Amino acid sequence: MEKKQIALIAHDKCKEEMVEWCREHYDLLSAHSLFATGTTGNKVSKETGLAVTALKSGPLGGDLQIGARIVDGAIDMLVFFWDPLTAQPHDPDVKALLRVATLKNIPVATNRASADYLMLALQSSRNGN
Ligand code: PGA
Repeated sequence: MEKKQIALIAHDKCKEEMVEWCREHYDLLSAHSLFATGTTGNKVSKETGLAVTALKSGPLGGDLQIGARIVDGAIDMLVFFWDPLTAQPHDPDVKALLRVATLKNIPVATNRASADYLMLALQSSRNGN
């Protein structure tokens, strides 16, 4: 199975859901390389035991770091639980990240249901389907 580079980001009110989602998909996620914005990455790694490369915190440029990696072709998939009910100070960075993810045509999941589908696809490629 090809090892994928998966980026994880969750806004504050979505972080618990991200941890739960990572626990649910632990086996599959642990077979890939995980990158995340700072707070998300540290929380996921502490609470699930998954190895995650944590970049800067999102509001301090972490979304842009993930975006730059996407531009470089170094991220294959983005799971981004963004909060639709809270204004973010770094909204321009979020927009830039989603823009380059679309531009580079990588799969992006912005909620748990779509993230589950990405895991189904990943699982089926693991099974050689
Ligand atoms: P964080 O960043 O993981 O450092 O909280 C996420 C974000 O707000 O984009």
